[in-house]
Amino acid sequence: MSNPLRVLAIEDNPDDAELLALQLASGGYDVDYLRVDTAADLQAALAAGPWDIILTDYSMPQFDAIAALTIVQASGQDIPFIIVSGSIGEETAVAAMQAGSHDYLLKSNLTRLVPAVKRELREAQVRDERRQALRDLEQLAFYDLLTGLPNRSKFLLNLQDWIEHRQADPEAHFSVIFLDIDRYKRVKYGLGHQKGHDFLVEVGQRLVRWAGPNDLVAHIEEDSFAIALRHVANTAVLAEKVAQVHGLMEEPFQLGALQIYASASLGIVDSNLPYTVAADFLRAADTANYHARQQGGQTRFFSIQMQTEESDRLQLEADLQQALVNQELVLYYQPIISLQTCQVSGFEALVRWHHPTRGWVGPNIFIPLAEQTGLIIPLGQWVLEEACRQMHHWQTELAEFLPLSVAVNLSGIQLVQPNLATTIQAIWEQAQIQGLSLKLEVTESLLMENGELVIQQLQRLRSSGIQICIDDFGTGYSSLAYLHSLPINTLKIDRSFVDRMTLDGKNLSIVKTILTLAKTLGLSVVAEGIETANQFDELRSLNCTEGQGYLFAKPLPPQDLALWLHQAKSPHFLTTVSATHPHYDSPLSSAC
Ligand code: C2E
Ligand code: MG
Ligand code: MG
Repeated sequence: MSNPLRVLAIEDNPDDAELLALQLASGGYDVDYLRVDTAADLQAALAAGPWDIILTDYSMPQFDAIAALTIVQASGQDIPFIIVSGSIGEETAVAAMQAGSHDYLLKSNLTRLVPAVKRELREAQVRDERRQALRDLEQLAFYDLLTGLPNRSKFLLNLQDWIEHRQADPEAHFSVIFLDIDRYKRVKYGLGHQKGHDFLVEVGQRLVRWAGPNDLVAHIEEDSFAIALRHVANTAVLAEKVAQVHGLMEEPFQLGALQIYASASLGIVDSNLPYTVAADFLRAADTANYHARQQGGQTRFFSIQMQTEESDRLQLEADLQQALVNQELVLYYQPIISLQTCQVSGFEALVRWHHPTRGWVGPNIFIPLAEQTGLIIPLGQWVLEEACRQMHHWQTELAEFLPLSVAVNLSGIQLVQPNLATTIQAIWEQAQIQGLSLKLEVTESLLMENGELVIQQLQRLRSSGIQICIDDFGTGYSSLAYLHSLPINTLKIDRSFVDRMTLDGKNLSIVKTILTLAKTLGLSVVAEGIETANQFDELRSLNCTEGQGYLFAKPLPPQDLALWLHQAKSPHFLTTVSATHPHYDSPLSSAC
């Protein structure tokens, strides 16, 4: 059964009120009505609502319809309002309609009552739906669907009010904190999107619970939140607040059965900056945040000098988007030499960017940018496809030098993509290459931090014949005890150890330890960054498997590789390579 029609009758005569109810009942309504005839009773009734419709007499001893209408309007409720009067002149009726009454009827002709009520109820519903749609639109425009928090637009709108307020009152200080969750992508790709979302919601809730009633907390984008703190002028107070935010983030997060630990980088600005637009404050806080992240996390306060660097970075970011489209990226290949046979065992593919105005830009500059923007995914895919395409070509061009391996670097973001193994396997199988094998280089910290999912992916890859190398070995924090359980084939000793090895006893002993460890685990070792003949000789005598470095060759464009390989076979090549054996025929001949 439908709900009764809740009628508020403003009427001094109980019989007339009853008559209205009967008329409505005859039209099929189940009526529940209340009669009032004073301003005070009307106010009380409105407060006790809700009401579906108001039917009011025009003039009563203590009250009248226009005064009632004013009260209803002041209550902010949109209730259909119909005047039912014993007599009403046309002018009065028009004035009442203009004041906001929806209709007027004469008590002597109540046949119009039911159709008028029906129509007004329908129209009220339409108005209600429209208001709801507007609310939904506002929710969509100003609130984040995931966390329910205000979004960037809402944050900027509110902050703009604060800025204007401060222009009038210089004491109205505020500070803006840009919070970025460290390594969020690892949570998202490592634990799945749902857990990633739960985690973001929990971060938002913690911030809201912590923030004061006058502060603003907003979800700006995936792993970034913004907080505006009102009336914080004192740096000691601000420092205390910052420490509290770090503390909030460092409390463990319970995601279902999993407990994870997180941290955040904070960028901060205060209202002393000469900006008048909210977006400038937010951008400045974001810039400070970027600097905090660059330095491994925690907190940075904004300085104007950061701004110049920031616009440079933004430009480079935009250019990098185009670089992929405009095919400005190229792969260079650095030869890797077997230190025992002195033959070339393979190459490492190293990406370079030929920027239209800046010239060559190195991967150390643009790979971190690509990782921050997510562009590393298409970029990494391109590197793999391009390396495979090149290998296909070498299959015939370098036939006399086969077998060779090609090593491709993988970024941490790629590594936590759940479909990584499938994608790489597909690219590799499609390439159908004989005599060439694919190696993937990952850094040790990535393996250690990412746990089971990543290891399973690498296991899958390795069982399909792709080899896995730990790059820059020695610089991360491998648990040596853990190393044996990882699906790896090769350790690449970081250049920093090779660099001072012959001068520095400590580095030499690290290299020796790595070599002993690798031998026990049955892993091959590539020494990176061999620049001198002494390093080459030392590593050879320590039985290091392979080496790579400027002593042999810098990374080369693919069209130069065939020529280099032929030159490397010639006797003259030798003299530049070995200090202790200057009369070798060729370091790259089997005699070596
Ligand atoms: P990495 O994988 O450790 O690569 C070795 C780096 O050492 C290369 O720098 C190489 O040019 C340099 N190098 C090699 N031999 C010597 C030497 O004898 N002396 C000196 N001083 N340097 C030497 P590059 O090409 O600038 O690459 C830097 C890093 O960028 C790479 O370190 C790698 O982590 C990253 N990278 C390069 N290409 C890619 C890529 O396609 N994808 C990803 N994710 N990262 C890449
Ligand atoms: Mg590498
Ligand atoms: Mg390396």
